[in-house]
Amino acid sequence: MRVAIVGSGISGLSALWFLKKHSDHEVNIYESAEHVGGQARGIIYRREGKEDVLVDTGLMAFSPAGSPTLAAFLKHLDLPTRRTDMSLAVSRQPRPAGVLNLFNPRAWRLAFDTLRFRYAQADDDQKLGAWLSANGYSAAFFDEWLLPRIARLWLLTDDLAAKSMPAGDVVRGVQDHEASWEAITGGGAALIDKLASVVPPENLHTRAEIVSITSHEYGVRLVEAGGTNHIYDHVILAIPGNRALKLLKAGSWAAPEEEEALSGDWTGIDAVPATGAVPTAVSVTSTPAPPAYDASMPAPTQTLALTYDMGRIAAQPGITLHIAPGSAFQVPLPSTRDLAPAQNTRRIAYAGAWARGGRAEDALVSALELVKSAPFNASPPLEGRRRAGMAMTLTLARIVLAYAEGVRSITAPLWTVVSWPVALALAIIETATPVPRARRQIALLRKCWE
Ligand SMILES: Cc1cc2nc3c(=O)[nH]c(=O)nc-3n(C[C@H](O)[C@H](O)[C@H](O)COP(=O)(O)OP(=O)(O)OC[C@H]3O[C@@H](n4cnc5c(N)ncnc54)[C@H](O)[C@@H]3O)c2cc1C
Repeated sequence: MRVAIVGSGISGLSALWFLKKHSDHEVNIYESAEHVGGQARGIIYRREGKEDVLVDTGLMAFSPAGSPTLAAFLKHLDLPTRRTDMSLAVSRQPRPAGVLNLFNPRAWRLAFDTLRFRYAQADDDQKLGAWLSANGYSAAFFDEWLLPRIARLWLLTDDLAAKSMPAGDVVRGVQDHEASWEAITGGGAALIDKLASVVPPENLHTRAEIVSITSHEYGVRLVEAGGTNHIYDHVILAIPGNRALKLLKAGSWAAPEEEEALSGDWTGIDAVPATGAVPTAVSVTSTPAPPAYDASMPAPTQTLALTYDMGRIAAQPGITLHIAPGSAFQVPLPSTRDLAPAQNTRRIAYAGAWARGGRAEDALVSALELVKSAPFNASPPLEGRRRAGMAMTLTLARIVLAYAEGVRSITAPLWTVVSWPVALALAIIETATPVPRARRQIALLRKCWE
């Protein structure tokens, strides 16, 4: 079969590699940019009077537990990886009250919620915000522990986007990424170059933007921006779903099931390299979001800015990467989408990180599953791996923690009755204490307690 792949990100290049190595199909790949690699290629950082640096933005780090297929594929490709640091620091404006955490019920609650989250399970048909409320997680847990981890993993820059993600994706993703992290030696570019090396130059078309696609009985017609037409037996659109939809509509029409499968929520970010270093590998700063234009619509309450220390993460010392809301990259919000009704229906197939959880692992698995199925029927020696199920002891821990949460939620009203008199007593003692230093200490204690 003559196959065209549109888009040379991790998904397009992996599909290319699998088809070239493990099938007899003739494959061409089209990429609108000057270089292959998509988001995983990285960003060129231009510094005055110094050499340009390719900052390894798009595949900085992955956790083997959370990205098992990627880890296995890198081994298969003989691409070395090394342990890396993804330590996290969080700063919030305004700062949460309470310094003496031992006397701070909020801190105890946060510790308890963190513990039970580690053993939690969630379905994908519930949004994270609803799941957190239904399971009694505290606001402090979301703001101070969970949200920064979601931001680090999915590059999200506000709390509303995080709360609208499928709960199952978030719970599994965050749990899996609490373990160790690794980076590819040579960065995402090493993977990109290895994958692209299987295709001869005459089948690799860069600066070739496809602007429309039409399916006919005899094949699929692709039209390039300059007007050149190409006919193939089958096409893989390894580009974001919303762009794929545009190409279909520019060519002819899109069926309702295609509209449904290909549309989704995206968030825009800027990724700006700079010179400097930060105390931890990733730092997340949260500030109150500006007021919404339309008060009747759900709106974010926090805006997040992320800084990645590329020295610690990607062995690029003295370079940081700043992520903030913007438009340079479109990041998909993971959603529970079903591609099956649209897949291969008109000799057109779809792949990409957007079709799953939004990370490099998702781009790879989407391509792997596609090429293994009809009509490609390739046979790569790689499985789309799933995370291991919970061990018996973990299941037991989950039951105990669920029971503890049940007790906590039942006794919560009682806690309010007890905590008020304590706060009042502390306020009275504070006022009555004559020694200023002792008074300050009691005031601090009272603040923590409240
Ligand atoms: C700043 C940043 C940091 C990240 N860090 C990590 C990380 O540390 N770990 C991790 O696992 N993931 C990370 N990711 C996510 C990861 O990079 C992506 O999930 C992955 O690269 C997406 O691959 P893809 O093939 O789905 O899409 P893309 O990389 O977006 O590839 C799509 C390609 O299609 C091309 N294209 C689009 N339209 C057309 C057209 N009409 N004609 C021809 N070509 C077209 C585009 O130019 C692009 O090259 C990061 C992402 C960003 C933005």
